[in-house]
Amino acid sequence: MEEAREVRTTCPYCGVGCGVLAAIAADGKTTVRGDPEHPANFGRLCSKGSALGETLGLDGRLLHPKIGGRQASWDEALDLVAAKFSQAIAEHGPDSVAFYVSGQLLTEDYYVANKLMKGFIGSANIDTNSRLCMASSVAGHRRAFGEDIVPGVYEDFDCADLIVLTGSNTAWCHPVLYQRMLAARRERGTRIVVIDPRRTATADECDLHLALDPGTDVLLFNGLLAHLVQGGKIDADFIRESTTGFDAAAALATADAPSIARVAKGCGLTVADVQAFYDLFAGTERTVTVYSQGVNQSAHGTDKVNAIINCHLATGRIGKPGMGPFSVTGQPNAMGGREVGGLANQLAAHMDFADQSAIDRVARFWNAPDTARRAGLKAVDMFQAVADGRIKALWIMGTNPAVSMPDASRVRAAMSKCDFVVVSDVARTDTTRYADVLLPAAAWGEKDGTVTNSERRISRQTPFLPLPGEAKADWRIICEVAARMGFGDAFAHRTPAEIFREHAALSAFENDGGRLFDLGGVADLSDADYAGFAPRHWPAPNRDEQQIRLFADGRFPTPDGRARFVPVRQEATAFTVDADYPLALNTGRLRDQWHTMTRTGNVPRLMANAPEPAVDLNPADAAAHHLKDGDLAHLSTRFGFVRARVRVSEAQRRGQAFMPMHWSGQFAARAAAGLLSSPVTDPHSGQPELKHVPARIVRENTG
Ligand code: SF4
Repeated sequence: MEEAREVRTTCPYCGVGCGVLAAIAADGKTTVRGDPEHPANFGRLCSKGSALGETLGLDGRLLHPKIGGRQASWDEALDLVAAKFSQAIAEHGPDSVAFYVSGQLLTEDYYVANKLMKGFIGSANIDTNSRLCMASSVAGHRRAFGEDIVPGVYEDFDCADLIVLTGSNTAWCHPVLYQRMLAARRERGTRIVVIDPRRTATADECDLHLALDPGTDVLLFNGLLAHLVQGGKIDADFIRESTTGFDAAAALATADAPSIARVAKGCGLTVADVQAFYDLFAGTERTVTVYSQGVNQSAHGTDKVNAIINCHLATGRIGKPGMGPFSVTGQPNAMGGREVGGLANQLAAHMDFADQSAIDRVARFWNAPDTARRAGLKAVDMFQAVADGRIKALWIMGTNPAVSMPDASRVRAAMSKCDFVVVSDVARTDTTRYADVLLPAAAWGEKDGTVTNSERRISRQTPFLPLPGEAKADWRIICEVAARMGFGDAFAHRTPAEIFREHAALSAFENDGGRLFDLGGVADLSDADYAGFAPRHWPAPNRDEQQIRLFADGRFPTPDGRARFVPVRQEATAFTVDADYPLALNTGRLRDQWHTMTRTGNVPRLMANAPEPAVDLNPADAAAHHLKDGDLAHLSTRFGFVRARVRVSEAQRRGQAFMPMHWSGQFAARAAAGLLSSPVTDPHSGQPELKHVPARIVRENTG
């Protein structure tokens, strides 16, 4: 009997970036196991990753291009896409078109999409669904470090003595990392502090849970900075040699949070709990602070990120093993998208529109004199421009904004009105119904390229299945449209390896060492080397070296080489609850589901734990609203309403409600959390507020 062949690849779900071994039997059946050699997971997989083999069926797959619902040839579809985009640009200028892309794209896909929009169309109107996930961390890193750099690596969790998890349900959203943290807790007594309004599964095994009031994170960390200063627990040498702005940040923090009692009152915590957290942080040199969507998805997310980073800079706890601020990303390639400029306000290779010489450099490298010279529209503003009619042609790649964008009703209406919408994706979604042209894209198992995880480690996604029907790789679709728009010479890429080499060469182009994001060492990989590329960190300026420990020398990629303290102040949440909308609605993930369930929703064992959408309420709130566990409820905000089952839970604080973000019309009519959320965004990052929307709930009239 023929033996199964085994292929080394990477999980397509979260930013942990676990290595996967996919075994394909002679009958085509695929089973997966964790790759014991991958340094992100050493063989572990979570429930979602271990069910990957069950998501590979062709149910719901897009197999042929379609125009207006009828099957079309690739030539016909691509000709139409190129013609409509060219027409809009000719009649209304380059800013009349936009791409809305995804952290599901591979780096090579992202690279050519960014190159086409920014370099050759001449607009920066390309933004990504990662805007909803980690844009505030990007903005916070750039303010503090000069570049969007995550200083930490996963080994830091193995040797930390204190791990602070803030705004991160790590146990469910990054399960393999959480297992690694628990191993450190068992083996070396690492203490874990969880900062989250909800008592999540992550809090089940922590030493201290701070269930703070939503949106009070800046106050808590300003109080910590003030406490460190007052207690003499700062690293004066590091502050003097390696940073700027300490005095202003410390003064504002002290004014904002003059005492622990004031912090406790403002955050809704006890003095004893705040004191315990501050003492733990102050007394533990090896401290990592992990933050995720609970921090980022806020109208003040960037300030929250900088409040955290300020505390690490004040103690010099950065650039050393077992310590540092650590943003973990939601998607498998959120980091790769950041590298190539997948955000509308970034140029490429971590270069910035604020730097005219960087724009000239990128234009020279691409030989693209029309390269965009200013930032484009961020996701929420992009869909507003679609609604206003300013965007005439929109191409959505690998994402489902009809469900995932805030104020999703408005987004759906905008797509209905748009002159021309293209959707390239692997399967039918709530968004594909708005497409004038549908393009079938390659799925996991068929894709060929690279992704970068939360610790800056680049890994391969390797194909092991044939492309079904007429599906094509995203990079190939984009290059074929670019050629039809007259840019064929610049998009004559024949393989993802060629694109990767160009991306790596751009990162090193005219870099005198001032920019940290540098892949020059892998810019000349052979095709065979690329195929067998072993996971490695960036920066990789040399072939044989990778710089794992960033900022160890106390130098940062700012003009003066110093990290910047950013003075921040606690601000009120964008909306406050009132008599009409008395509950603060929070949204987030479930352990067994991924995004809008387009893959995990097809796996019965992943659906078993939470088969239908539910809204979690504290018992007192349920009683006050005459609801009991299992009731069907009508949950509404000023932006929309959904129907969901009530789940009464002590884990929920009084006055707050929680609903998972996953459900869409495909799985349960009128249950998309995006219908409820507000389009208010952080002024620095453009990331929407998804964690605190005033809501009300009543029993659904089922009679
Ligand atoms: Fe995949 Fe994330 Fe689970 Fe790892 S932790 S198997 S990357 S979903």
